[in-house]
This record gives sequence, C-alpha cells and structure tokens, in this order.
Amino acid sequence: MKHAISCWEEISATITNGEKLVLLLDYDGTLTPIVDRPENAVLSPDVRELLKTLSENDSILLGVFSGRRLKEIKSIIGLECIYYCGSHGLESEGFESPVAEEALLKVQPTVSEVREKLSPTVSVFDGAFLEDKKYSLVLHYRLVNDAEKQNIRKSFEKVVKPYIGGGFVIKENKMTLEFLPDLEVNKGAAVNALKKHLRNAGVNSFSTVYVGDDETDEDVFRILTDGDVGVAVGRRESLAKYYLEDAEDVCLLLRSIVALFCL
Ligand SMILES: [Mg+2]
Repeated sequence: MKHAISCWEEISATITNGEKLVLLLDYDGTLTPIVDRPENAVLSPDVRELLKTLSENDSILLGVFSGRRLKEIKSIIGLECIYYCGSHGLESEGFESPVAEEALLKVQPTVSEVREKLSPTVSVFDGAFLEDKKYSLVLHYRLVNDAEKQNIRKSFEKVVKPYIGGGFVIKENKMTLEFLPDLEVNKGAAVNALKKHLRNAGVNSFSTVYVGDDETDEDVFRILTDGDVGVAVGRRESLAKYYLEDAEDVCLLLRSIVALFCL
C-alpha cells in the first residue's frame, strides 16, 4: 500500500480525470480520531470548514458514509445538499438506499426483543454499553477491563445466537459488536447505489474517492474500480490501494483536494 499524501500527484491526476469528483468519507476514525465513547467523536473546526468548502464546489459531490444512524450523522455534519449513508448502508439520503424501508420496519420488533434480553447482560460489565440504532444494536466494550473483554463478547454472542442465521448477523468493528439484519446491504452496496443514481441523473464521468478506517469500509474498497481511489485510514492490511495514518492525515488530504479544486 502507498501513502496517499506521498502519492498526491498520482491521486490528483486520477481524480481530475472525470467531470466530477465523488468524495465519500467515513466519519468515526476517519474525520475524527478514535475515542472511548461515540459522543466524544467531535469534528474539528478545521475539518468542518474543509467539508463546507468541498460541499460548495460544483465539481465535487460530497458524501458522508457512516455506521451511525442517518439522522445522527446528518445532525453531526450539518451540511445540506450532500449525500448521506447511515447504519452501514441501511439508510441513505440524496439517493435511493439499496434496502427498502418495509424490510427495515419488519426487523424492528426483533431488534427490540433482543435489546430487552441484552440490556441486563451488558449492564453487568463496567464500562460496557448498548447503543440502540433502531434497526440494529451495538455493544461498545472499549472501556471494559481487558480481562473482561472476552467475557462480554461471549455473553453478547450467547444472547443473540438464536437469531443468527434467522435473518440476523453479527458485524465486528473496533471494540464493538453489532447485531443487525442480514439484508445483504453494506457500505459497498450503498456506494454502488449512489453511482447508479448519478448515472441515472446524467453524471457519467466521475472518479470516486472513498476514505475509511474500519472493517465495514473494506466492503467499499472491494467494489471500487480502476478510476477510483480507496484510502484506508490507520491500517496497512486493506483492499484499498492507499493508506493514511490517522484523522490528521485525512485533514491534510482534504486540504490538498480543496487546494486542487477550490482555490
Ligand atoms: Mg470508521
């Protein structure tokens, strides 16, 4: 893998090839550093300003693709007229989600049922908490004692096991386990849905840049094509062609894109 800033010339040639640049960014661990609790992940004023500048450029189509709920990521970013994808592809705004809303409504009673069962289990462990994302449940265990981490994972898996295979799966991310419907939707499917939406809208010539730090972002790197640019943050083992060290590096990349397109 190559460092994206060191290869800026190569990347800038690729992303100015089409009429438009489709710039898609993950949020946690990409636009913000990794933190103990999701509510502590805050956008720096610098990054917020860069996103605003990028969103106002006619040659750039900006999107934020997060695992968070759509309404949550929208309120955090606070920009109108950009694309949003929430819940790892289950929800979207600005383009049609790869999954129908009816399918999501159908899974909700089961998610509530599992939440009732999981809550007492999770509360036994100091530092662990369960996030209710309406269509899925996320166990956060970063703050649990190292000695107890394996135990909470096992307890979680024991409770959700009867539902796995029956339309639900477990998705693993950094110090989280997520119980969610198996709708064969992921961020990769969401990126493809956006690309299809753009082509239907007459935007045919574009290059896609996708920047993300987690396992769920690999689903995007897998579907990117030759004219696209995948950038993995904080990881060297990835399907992405390029990497960046951390959110600070991402800020530098955004600055370079602003300099290329907006100045
Ligand atoms: Mg992330």
